[in-house]
Order: sequence, then structure tokens, then C-alpha cells
Amino acid sequence: QAKLAMCSAKAQGRNTVRIFAPTMQSPYCAQLALEADMARGMQHGEFVLHFQPQHEGGQVVGAELLVRWKHPVKGLLMPGAFIEQAEQGNMIVALGSWVLECACAQLAAWHAHPATAGLSLSVNVSARQFRQADFLAGVADVLRRTGADPARLTIELTESLLIDDVDDTIAKMKALKSMGIGCALDDFGVCYSSLTYLKNLPFAEMKIDQTVIQDLRDPKSAAIVRAIIVLGETLGLKVVAEGVETEDQRAFLSTHGCTRQQGYLHGRPVPLQEFASSLPRHG
Ligand code: C2E
Ligand code: CA
Ligand code: CA
Ligand code: CA
Repeated sequence: QAKLAMCSAKAQGRNTVRIFAPTMQSPYCAQLALEADMARGMQHGEFVLHFQPQHEGGQVVGAELLVRWKHPVKGLLMPGAFIEQAEQGNMIVALGSWVLECACAQLAAWHAHPATAGLSLSVNVSARQFRQADFLAGVADVLRRTGADPARLTIELTESLLIDDVDDTIAKMKALKSMGIGCALDDFGVCYSSLTYLKNLPFAEMKIDQTVIQDLRDPKSAAIVRAIIVLGETLGLKVVAEGVETEDQRAFLSTHGCTRQQGYLHGRPVPLQEFASSLPRHG
């Protein structure tokens, strides 16, 4: 609080005394305020994870973990309201390792029951988290402590993360692979340079972005999606379609060989209890 007040005073000149108010925040102060609020929120257990099912030929085979913030004042916040800003600072690192911890604990719990032992989980990892010098050590540590099967864990990386330090990225992805963890190239098809990454980086999976899927009625988009599926298969990648909302989209993708799908048609992101109760013979 003292830190925030100081930075507000500084921004307005040395001899001015101003009452600190949110509307006077400089971007830097807004950043600090968010960081402080997130730290408080994490301490109070305000962050929750929703599970969005991934279907394979009509069956639930796993889920992507998507974070939400039950904010005491602002209500339920979606990632769009805080992730991008959190990525500018170190709270994304704390949040990200909490997500990883939850994923591994959940996988270990599921592993103990035959009905759920086959389920996989995908987590989103931000650039700043991935670039931490102790990122790999942290992953190894959480696997060891929880006993989670690394083959059931997928780490989703976006292209923006890959641009800045390719050598570090390759080294870390190889290390994850040797631990048994697969990486997915998230939001594939949004940026033109993704092909280079697929060629040079050891991905196990690509996720076709929802904007591409939602444009499927356009014959050119349909042709692109077909080509993407063939490309992924040829490269030996698991291909996951995101944002599948309609039966037409499901049928088109399945017909062209993309059976692993995620989207509102198959299920919205929901709390664990709801996800678990949707599983056959379980919940
Ligand atoms: P993403 O990784 O591309 O996640 C997919 C987003 O699409 C999710 O939004 C999901 O709710 C939404 N979605 C899924 N199916 C459909 C559909 O059929 N139609 C439509 N219109 N949307 C669909 P959400 O939950 O708001 O997450 C937004 C982004 O926030 C994620 O995009 C991801 O980049 C980021 N994010 C979420 N959780 C985390 C996290 O734990 N860590 C990090 N670093 N980023 C996260
Ligand atoms: Ca994702
Ligand atoms: Ca995505
Ligand atoms: Ca996205």
C-alpha cells in the first residue's frame, strides 16, 4: 500500500501530495495494484480452475485447465480481464505454478481410479513462467511430489512465447519431452510463422485456433483446415480443434480426421465437480 502511494506521488511531481485513487493510476501503478490484488487473491484462494472437456470420438479423454478469479468486489473474472496484465509482472509465475500444481495433484488423484486413470490435462504456460531459470526444476519437483504421470500432462505454449529466445525454448521443450511431457502449439493458424516453429521445435500437439474453426463455412477456410489436419498428421502431431460450437463443425472435422475436439458443443469450461460428474460411470 505504501509502495502504491509513493509511486502515485512520484508520477505527479515531488512536492505534490495527492490522495491515491484508482482513476489517477499510471499504467505502472495499475500494474502494481493488480499484482498486489492478485497476491491477496491467491492468499485467499480466490482463483479457481475450470475444466473444459476434450473429446475424442465422442468420449471425454481429458480437459484443458482455464483459470477464473472469484473477485470479492468485481465478481467472477475471466482470464481476459487479468492474464495479459499479469503477464507483464511476476504474479503470472506464481499463478502458473499453482495451476501446474493443481493439474498434477488432480492427475495423481485420477490415476488411483480405473475409471479416470486415462484422463489427460492441459495447462497454459505463459512466456515469463516458461523463461524462469528454475522452470524445469519446478516441473520436475511437482511431478516428483505429486507422483503425476507426465505422459498425461500437456503444456500449451503460444507462438508469441516462442519468438524471443528460440534456443532457450528448444532446450526446455527437449527437457520436458525427456521428462515425458508433451507440448502443444496453442492457437495454431492465427499467425503466419507457426510453420517454422512446427519444423524446428519438438511439439507433440497442435491446437487449431477457434477463429479458424468458426470460419469453416467459408470454403477457403475449410480448405485451410483440411490442409492443417494433414500437415499435423504428416508431422506426427496430435491435432486438436478448439472452439467447436456446431454439429456441422464437429462432423467436418471428424470426416477429415480431426477427432480430438474441444469447444462449447462438447462442453463449456466447468468446475471440477461438474466435470467429474459428466464422466461416464464416475462422479
Ligand atoms: P486459450 O488457451 O486459447 O483457451 C481457450 C479459450 O476459448 C477459453 O477462454 C475457452 O473458454 C474458450 N472457448 C472454449 N471453447 C469455446 C467455444 O466453443 N467457443 C468460444 N467462443 N470460445 C470457446 P478463457 O477461459 O476465457 O481463456 C482465455 C485465455 O486465457 C486462454 O486462451 C489462455 O490463453 C488464457 N488462460 C486461461 N487460463 C490460463 C492459465 O491458467 N494460465 C495462463 N498463462 N493463461 C491462461
Ligand atoms: Ca490453451
Ligand atoms: Ca487456444
Ligand atoms: Ca487463445
